[in-house]
Amino acid sequence: MGYVEACDLKDLVLLGGGHSHVGVLKRFGARPSPGVRLTVICRDLRTPYSGMLPGLIAGHYAFDDAHIDLEPLCRFAGARLYHDEAVALDLAERKVVCKGRAPIRYDLLSINIGSTPGILEVPGAADSVVPVKPIQQFIARWDALCHRVISHEGPMRIGVVGAGAGGVEILLAVQFRLCKLLAAQGRSADHLQYDLFTDTGRILPTHNARTRRIFERILAKRRVRVLTGHAVVEVAGGRLRLANGGEYALDEILWVTAASAARWLAQSGLAVDERGFVEVADTLQSLSHPDVFAAGDIAALVDHPRPKSGVIAVREGKALERNLRRALAGRPLRPYRPQRQSLSLISTGDRYAVASRNGWALEGRLLWRWKDWIDRRFVRMFSELPDVPAGGR
Ligand SMILES: Cc1cc2nc3c(=O)[nH]c(=O)nc-3n(C[C@H](O)[C@H](O)[C@H](O)COP(=O)(O)OP(=O)(O)OC[C@H]3O[C@@H](n4cnc5c(N)ncnc54)[C@H](O)[C@@H]3O)c2cc1C
Repeated sequence: MGYVEACDLKDLVLLGGGHSHVGVLKRFGARPSPGVRLTVICRDLRTPYSGMLPGLIAGHYAFDDAHIDLEPLCRFAGARLYHDEAVALDLAERKVVCKGRAPIRYDLLSINIGSTPGILEVPGAADSVVPVKPIQQFIARWDALCHRVISHEGPMRIGVVGAGAGGVEILLAVQFRLCKLLAAQGRSADHLQYDLFTDTGRILPTHNARTRRIFERILAKRRVRVLTGHAVVEVAGGRLRLANGGEYALDEILWVTAASAARWLAQSGLAVDERGFVEVADTLQSLSHPDVFAAGDIAALVDHPRPKSGVIAVREGKALERNLRRALAGRPLRPYRPQRQSLSLISTGDRYAVASRNGWALEGRLLWRWKDWIDRRFVRMFSELPDVPAGGR
């Protein structure tokens, strides 16, 4: 490559390998952009597909079924892959500061690093609960939790904090799997008791009344104690302290509360909302820094606020890819308008699912099979890639 060409090369850095960026990578692989050098920085080399996490916990999927491997995907896209964790941004110098290497320069930066359940704001939680994200850490801790439960004799209380779709799904998947593991040893699971805590007045607050009724019935049948209006204010010595003065002793505490953002983004000087999420216009471009884009959970679309969801992150991937190409070419960006409400398929651990949308809800085994088909097909889109010529693109 000649000197002039090297100078003309534009650096597009994708920070995080989330649901939006895997779509961007696939599309750049299918239609490479000459003059653009793609770099991916990601803490994990395997991107978990969140829709399949409850199925992974329940034992319906192996690790590989529910993860997208970034290495072949980056090879297909002709992207450099840096396995590292970003800890800061130098927005003036246009650099991403990482834990394990020299800062990485960009002409255009796109952020898709997801979110984690907010544990830092509850004293004691960070030391003693098992947060569901980062998912890689959760999977490792889940194996340890299974081992503890299996080797335990006598009553045991397992609490899940957070009763959105993620919390309810995780609790039911955990219960199903532990029951199976104990049954394989010829033991009953009757000594395991489950509590679901939420600070909201009802479970599944963003879903409709029919969906809630179905899950209230299922949770009651599965003998889960549901404690609504119970805001946890402290965790200490295996006990949850609540805002109303109550205390609950638990043997295991899983944390699946509302999404929170990495703090270093706000500290870097990017415009963020009151919860720390990167404020973007309907073009997915940062409100404060035009050379920065964001998508997925970490982005806050100021004109079209939406709940954090993998479905939305996936859809944003297409709009993001289009606008990244346009920004690199100096062309006007196109607005993106997310759907008002999408269909949710919420599983119950036992190969059964509930479909929820607007005012209606349906349930059954066929819905689980449909969800399973959709999810497997999604992951396959990123594992069955066309061959890349030897030596790369
Ligand atoms: C139990 C559970 C079940 C769910 N089920 C569903 C569902 O069925 N359907 C649905 O639509 N949504 C579901 N969700 C919500 C869904 O998980 C999120 O909305 C979705 O994962 C967001 O995707 P994302 O692309 O923003 O980020 P993610 O998919 O979380 O990806 C973030 C990426 O960034 C990387 N990363 C993070 N920090 C850094 C860093 N500092 N430096 C470098 N890399 C970094 C990570 O390694 C990862 O690759 C569920 C959530 C939970 C908790």
